[in-house]
Amino acid sequence: MTRFIFITGGVVSSLGKGLASAALGACLQARGFKVRLRKLDPYLNVDPGTMSPYQHGEVYVTDDGAETDLDLGHYERFTGVASRKSDNITTGRIYSDVIARERRGDYLGATVQVIPHVTNAIKDFIKSDVTDEDFVLCEIGGTVGDIESLPFLEAIRQLANELGRERTMFIHLTLLPYIPSAGELKTKPTQHSVKELLSVGIQPDLLMCRSERDIPEGERKKIALFCNVRYQAVIPALDVDTIYQVPISYHEQGLDAEVCRHFHIESAEPKLDRWTNIVERVRQPEGEVTIAVVGKYTSLLDSYKSLAEALTHGGIANNVKVRLNWIDSQIFEREDAVQYLEPCHGILVPGGFGERGASGKIEAVRFARERKVPYFGICFGMQMAVIETARNLAGLDHASSTEFGPSDEPVVGLMTEWLKGGALEKRKANGDLGGTLRLGAYECHLKPGSRAREIYGSDVISERHRHRYEVNMDYRPVLEKAGLSFSGLSPDGVLPEIVEYPDHPWFIGVQFHPELKSKPFAPHPLFTSFIAAALRQSRLV
Ligand code: GLN
Repeated sequence: MTRFIFITGGVVSSLGKGLASAALGACLQARGFKVRLRKLDPYLNVDPGTMSPYQHGEVYVTDDGAETDLDLGHYERFTGVASRKSDNITTGRIYSDVIARERRGDYLGATVQVIPHVTNAIKDFIKSDVTDEDFVLCEIGGTVGDIESLPFLEAIRQLANELGRERTMFIHLTLLPYIPSAGELKTKPTQHSVKELLSVGIQPDLLMCRSERDIPEGERKKIALFCNVRYQAVIPALDVDTIYQVPISYHEQGLDAEVCRHFHIESAEPKLDRWTNIVERVRQPEGEVTIAVVGKYTSLLDSYKSLAEALTHGGIANNVKVRLNWIDSQIFEREDAVQYLEPCHGILVPGGFGERGASGKIEAVRFARERKVPYFGICFGMQMAVIETARNLAGLDHASSTEFGPSDEPVVGLMTEWLKGGALEKRKANGDLGGTLRLGAYECHLKPGSRAREIYGSDVISERHRHRYEVNMDYRPVLEKAGLSFSGLSPDGVLPEIVEYPDHPWFIGVQFHPELKSKPFAPHPLFTSFIAAALRQSRLV
């Protein structure tokens, strides 16, 4: 029997609901339960694919090719359960489906309304694609009180009524602000937020109270009394020094025990050694390396969430702290790159879109290649590495990407056709922007004897993609003559997936996004190897 846990947020946004949900998932999983995590987003975009990284942070891509909210990354990193298309929905998608059905005449002449048609569609989504999971955790995006979240709250209220309270649970995450002049943690915003929930018919079963300091017993009792929850179900969610401590802290505060109690389930204490090991390593590193991340969206670090995590995982694997030096590549148009890059032990150019800042990234590649500093190019970072080779080693001065406009030497070009599972996928140059990239998991064959093959320890790998342009294979001979090896190709040999310089200490460009699959307890081999190379570099300088 699958049970549903709904997680809402109150008082303010950015309380870390995604992380809290992921941590609860990890605790339940550590008790031996099968879990699944989902996110319901109240905005009108059909998916976050077309949203600016500055506004919405990273777009997390699933194996099955969905462009989803970055919280799905937390879920996957904390539970190891691969996210799917059916784990993220937005108001935009719900409405576009409901309207498409209305146009087809599926509603048989009925007046189509938010209740029941939109709420039914939300409920169908929540219950869909569930098999033998013990728990499905559904995080509701936004903050209680927002107009946009109302249909979602109404849908989960109805669902709890239909499935019964023994199969559903409401968790509300709030904030207890500390007022220094009064020397007190304040419970009033939590009381108001719970009232807001009650006004739509939802009585929370458990409150998670974010707080920067210990919550005195008196305050905890007060919250329990005013918000109508058991004292033990007021869970302090205190700030911690590393996110990997979150499942441990929540467990210590009784979160998972209280969830089991709610559902009347007896279960053994969770095995959390996986997390204690990681926390120990993070707290006691044996060294430190500095990595320059030369990108464009460096003013909002959520844009590179998975990347920052994967680099940290690489550090965990090597027992070192990874210090990230975020550099906006545009600065290299005005200032010398050397002063920024010289103190770093590795250089990474991450995924990106558009011409702005591209020349600075190419400059970073050149520095890494010439100075033999470990270089890791991801997606756009691989494309820039190839353009750098073409321009500076192959003598193609005008080498460019057609993403930046028409080019005489389109070393990187628009991809209009490719194979997916034996079927041909096609795109038009002037087609829709949303959902039309090459998305999701694709296989890649590795060249025997290459560094990529050695790192992965396997001939065939599968990695997730999100791009529209591709290195143009017509240029392969001239690029190879310049020393760049094509060490990973699509199974049909048509699409380049990995390039590397065999005579460089560590120089790899990948067309996919390996950061999306890295986990703290299973660091991605490319990141482990890159950080190991940076560590060697740090001993040289
Ligand atoms: N803009 C490039 C493309 O569309 C790279 C995309 C990326 O880095 N994710 O191919």
